[in-house]
Amino acid sequence: MAITLPELPFGRDDLAPVISGNTIDFHYGKHHRAYVDNANKLIAGTELEHLSLEDIIKKTAGDAAKAGIFNNAAQVWNHTFYWHSLKPGGGGEPKGTIGEKIKATWGDYGKFVEEFRTAGVTQFGSGWAWLVLDGDSLKIVKTANADTPIAHGLKPLLTIDVWEHAYYLDYQNRRPDYLTAVIEKLLNWDFANENLQR
Ligand code: MN
Repeated sequence: MAITLPELPFGRDDLAPVISGNTIDFHYGKHHRAYVDNANKLIAGTELEHLSLEDIIKKTAGDAAKAGIFNNAAQVWNHTFYWHSLKPGGGGEPKGTIGEKIKATWGDYGKFVEEFRTAGVTQFGSGWAWLVLDGDSLKIVKTANADTPIAHGLKPLLTIDVWEHAYYLDYQNRRPDYLTAVIEKLLNWDFANENLQR
């Protein structure tokens, strides 16, 4: 099965002003699309060609000879997960099971925000900040470049892309401001609750 570029779960301009339509044009229309195209080229004619995206990622993780396939396939998966981690009018204190688990883990929502934001700010170079489930425990982790929690037995609940291409057109070098705005205004807690049920 060919790897496909999924539709965005919102319109081009729906995340503005936190994330502009211009950023969406490049980030989704160019970067995400390029990962899809590159992954398809690299798996063509190999034993990976007919596997699901998740299986391709798990089978190539940690294999230096297949780093190009892993990087492109994982970036396809990470970006699709990122778009679903955002929604217009999102952010703020979560309700439902995820809200209860965050209180139980961090004591209060403010402490969670501080740790999640710090993970994104301190990821050196390109990468991702994640809220994951490790067994029954909530954790915040960061990954470098294309690396993804699904290659490490963790269940992702939400992510924020901290590659420069995610924020440079709107925030230039101000990654902390991008993180604050995404956490306060875009995080899709419904998606986190859905992921807890999966
Ligand atoms: Mn990206």
